[in-house]
Amino acid sequence: MPKKLVWVFSKRYIAGETMEEGLLASKLLNEKGIEVTVDILGEFITTLAEAEKNRDEYLEVIERFTADNVKGNFSIKPTMFGLLIDKEVCYTHLREVVKFAAEKDSFIRIDMEDSQCVDMEIDIFRRLRTEFPKHVGLVLQAYLRRTESDIIALNDINNKNYPISFRLCKGIYVEPEHLAFKGYDEVREHYLTDLKYMFENKMYAGIATHDKYLVEEALKLIEEMNIPKNMYEFQMLYGVTPELRQSIVDGGHKMRVYVPFGQQWFNYSTRRLKENPKMAQHIIKALFIRG
Ligand SMILES: Cc1cc2nc3c(=O)[nH]c(=O)nc-3n(C[C@H](O)[C@H](O)[C@H](O)COP(=O)(O)OP(=O)(O)OC[C@H]3O[C@@H](n4cnc5c(N)ncnc54)[C@H](O)[C@@H]3O)c2cc1C
Repeated sequence: MPKKLVWVFSKRYIAGETMEEGLLASKLLNEKGIEVTVDILGEFITTLAEAEKNRDEYLEVIERFTADNVKGNFSIKPTMFGLLIDKEVCYTHLREVVKFAAEKDSFIRIDMEDSQCVDMEIDIFRRLRTEFPKHVGLVLQAYLRRTESDIIALNDINNKNYPISFRLCKGIYVEPEHLAFKGYDEVREHYLTDLKYMFENKMYAGIATHDKYLVEEALKLIEEMNIPKNMYEFQMLYGVTPELRQSIVDGGHKMRVYVPFGQQWFNYSTRRLKENPKMAQHIIKALFIRG
């Protein structure tokens, strides 16, 4: 697909290429009562020099966004910090960023990547959570067969004063069947089991989905289990299902939008296109049918 056409598609899903564009998009969301989690695009690195550059970019972004009082936090993919090259270097970079975020009373969410990264990302999270219990959280993917037992195992570092903070999503990578549930309903079912366990065990849940059924079922759980507002939030991707997003905000629930920006928008967009290829058809149609 030509780069220019991918950009037509991307504009809706990416705040822009520069930090200023990321800031502007975040402030506009804040004005609508929505918090953000900021993601700097660029995940495939091959050298530790690139990992260092990415760490510095995050430090700069945290400095700028907190100075501008943006209501939000930051999401990081550990592979951007060299996870698949040298795990200890990655840990050191992440620790530096979490420490800086903690000094600014902010928060870092460790995104979960493909299955080869899961053990390492959980391990890094455990270490950072011990040192910075209020300032770091992890993503878990409901489609992985292992996730239920991962949540149960992580309960040992949960704490009433500083609840462990998870974002629960379905999972975006293509995984083999022996690792991941493949049925649409099966993934939904496990999503709800995981969410219920989090609520029962007083964990903070970031409910990250655009699936109306899951949103409705989560709202039912919140009501039935009397979950206080400071123990959950909803999360959505920038530009996706804005009507559903607004209905959640109107219902008085906390909403956070994942705001990606950066030079690497092409990779991000092609991944989203693969996830939802129908979007491309709509965009192509819109290029010809105006009004
Ligand atoms: C805030 C946030 C953070 C995430 N972080 C991670 C992560 O760290 N690791 C990870 O593996 N995955 C992550 N994901 C992605 C997630 O795993 C899913 O792949 C993605 O959210 C799609 O699943 P869904 O729950 O929205 O359900 P789906 O069944 O995919 O979608 C439900 C409905 O939402 C709409 N929709 C969904 N996607 C799109 C789209 N791109 N464009 C237009 N409409 C769409 C459609 O109407 C669709 O029918 C994250 C998602 C969110 C919202």
